[in-house]
Amino acid sequence: MSCGTVADDRLRIDADRLWARHMELARIGQVGETGNCRLALSEEDAKARALFASWCRDAGLSLRSDRAGNMFAIRPGRDPSRKPVAAGSHLDTQPHGGRFDGISGVLAALEAVETLNDAGVETDAPLAVVNWTNEEGVSFAPGLLGSAWFAGLIDDEDLDAIEGPGGERFADAADRIGWRGDVRPDEMALDSFFELHIEQGPVLETEGDQVGVVTSVQGLRWLDVRVTGMDAHAGTTPLEARRDALLAAAAIVVELNRVGRASGPDARVSVGRFCPATDGPSTVAGRTDLVVDIRHPDETTLAGLVERCAAACQTAAEAHGCDAEVSQRLAVPPRAFDPSCVAAVEDAARALGLRHRRLPSGALHDASNIAPVAPTAMIFVPCRNGISHNVAEYAEKEDLAAGCEVLLHAMLARSGAG
Ligand SMILES: [Zn+2]
Repeated sequence: MSCGTVADDRLRIDADRLWARHMELARIGQVGETGNCRLALSEEDAKARALFASWCRDAGLSLRSDRAGNMFAIRPGRDPSRKPVAAGSHLDTQPHGGRFDGISGVLAALEAVETLNDAGVETDAPLAVVNWTNEEGVSFAPGLLGSAWFAGLIDDEDLDAIEGPGGERFADAADRIGWRGDVRPDEMALDSFFELHIEQGPVLETEGDQVGVVTSVQGLRWLDVRVTGMDAHAGTTPLEARRDALLAAAAIVVELNRVGRASGPDARVSVGRFCPATDGPSTVAGRTDLVVDIRHPDETTLAGLVERCAAACQTAAEAHGCDAEVSQRLAVPPRAFDPSCVAAVEDAARALGLRHRRLPSGALHDASNIAPVAPTAMIFVPCRNGISHNVAEYAEKEDLAAGCEVLLHAMLARSGAG
């Protein structure tokens, strides 16, 4: 029972193959020289899935999908009674996204499995390469949707009914691209889940580390805020007589920033969506909708921060003669990862002689959803200047390869190479 150890030099991943696949996938939905736009369940997503599926089939993996369109590419193990050791991430991107966010986790998982194929190494537990649907949540909100459904956080009917562009239902969109399958989460219960991801922050690069051993993910809340005033004529209505919802919403954005800054270095408060109901240059807007994104690693602190943000919305709206209706759309609690899986990642990094450090994740990931239903851990790879959700996003080939080797050996430790 000793083969498949880190010292086994047959088990080196193919860095060129891993990199070439990143570049090939990036041609689907390419934006400019280095960007990507592959929104979940779009035609571009369908093409990316087809390419990924062809690689999986070439690697001898069997492919299945579930109601959410999540893809599972399975390599059998020697012990059919064991649950699969899974790894993956997401192939969808932001509208002006990069070539690595999510993609690297899916491709690294596939590369780990192909490395075992090439070396003729069998594992006791089956292995699964996973592509979670709609991590980014751009056209079908919220994000992390496929993994949320898989983990039982959203029921079948609510998933199916989520509306995307043009009012298309999620279920119809998943059907349209051909990946709405019938696997139930209990049939696909996972032994464990590992997600490799670019850091999307500057810590590893700044500290000169090649691998991040991710210990936890901070919690997130989304607040829907509807500010209601009254539509009015821009020429005839005196400034003091207005109930300008856009002005009130702008004041809310400024006030939320103040609340965030006053809540310590770990607090994050942002407004990324801001939609006045009217779009007329000569109309004072009677309604403006915005979405507030609030994050903190500590659940109690996060709850207090959310309360202060909601109160700030009310106060700022009233100061401009408007009403604010605040409702919570999404709540993801902070997640600590499984100590044994975190240790498997750390042990692999140490044994491979890679500079590594433990750190929390500032961004949400599918791993946050999977953590309550299967032992989970993440591996971070440095990305240039911490830039992500940006066409300039970049990770070094060598760093991706190092992270992939850590992933391979963490999966081996978990799956047992007989
Ligand atoms: Zn991602």
